[in-house]
Amino acid sequence: MNFKNVFGYFGLGLAFALSSTVTASAQNLQSVSNYSQAHEDLLASQSHILDQIKVDEVQEFATKLYEDLEPESDVFSICWESEHVDAYAGSGIAIPDKQDIDVSDYCMPCSSNVITSNYGYRRRFGRMHKGIDLRAQVGDTVRAAFDGKIRLTKYERRGYGYYVVMRHENGMETVYGHLSRFLVKPNDYVKAGDPIALSGNTGRSTGPHLHFETRFMGYAINPTAIFDFKNRTTHTDVYTFNKNTYKRSRNYAPSSYASSGKVYHKIRRGDSLSKIARRYGTTVSKLCALNGISRNSTIREGRKLRVR
Ligand SMILES: [Zn+2]
Repeated sequence: MNFKNVFGYFGLGLAFALSSTVTASAQNLQSVSNYSQAHEDLLASQSHILDQIKVDEVQEFATKLYEDLEPESDVFSICWESEHVDAYAGSGIAIPDKQDIDVSDYCMPCSSNVITSNYGYRRRFGRMHKGIDLRAQVGDTVRAAFDGKIRLTKYERRGYGYYVVMRHENGMETVYGHLSRFLVKPNDYVKAGDPIALSGNTGRSTGPHLHFETRFMGYAINPTAIFDFKNRTTHTDVYTFNKNTYKRSRNYAPSSYASSGKVYHKIRRGDSLSKIARRYGTTVSKLCALNGISRNSTIREGRKLRVR
């Protein structure tokens, strides 16, 4: 068989294939147009009955569309200022008794997860420690704990030193203190994990560390109630702020924060049940029992698995 012949057969085949495709499409078009006509006729014959219903439906749809376009909350406008750590104090704004805060999209504020000083009342100094201290060296990267907007960057010689306050879409605010350098400025919008500053030893500080606070409308929440620093995750996807826990005073430190003792692991790429079991000193069968899954279940990245 020579080349010309092969090409000839191929060419003929191609032409045939093309023509049959065109015929098929033409038939499809015709049937679609027949169908459309039938559909139009059907609609036309019903239109007088359905007119009012249609108008109502369109209005309802338009209203819903308008609602969807409205911003979900005024989180970045109400009490938005660049002077005070607590922007809500004295504003007269009502603080909800209970508020669910989505904390599923988070990042650890620095690479170290070692807590060198806890949240709570410090008898020795007679004052509240409204956050926790994380071990850090001068110049370590400090990252945004959640998506949000920088509210202020400031210097306080007797307190926070150089510090950043961020407000988040989940309604929370985070404070990062004793920094050596800012990498952001007020009104910058950053994503969880974006570098916002370098840690340091400025202000009232006896050694390099990162002071980290989590607040809801001014109320300082123990960061360890939200974050499980040891396991570099959050305890649950949703943290429920409960004003009653803070009833005695604005700065009251809850002695126990309704910790159920449950521990969760956020599944990462490359995780397997046996790997997670090893990491938490448990067994695959225990993991399966806790989560109501089988050994062969697919575990999805980003999901949370209860490990204790
Ligand atoms: Zn501190």
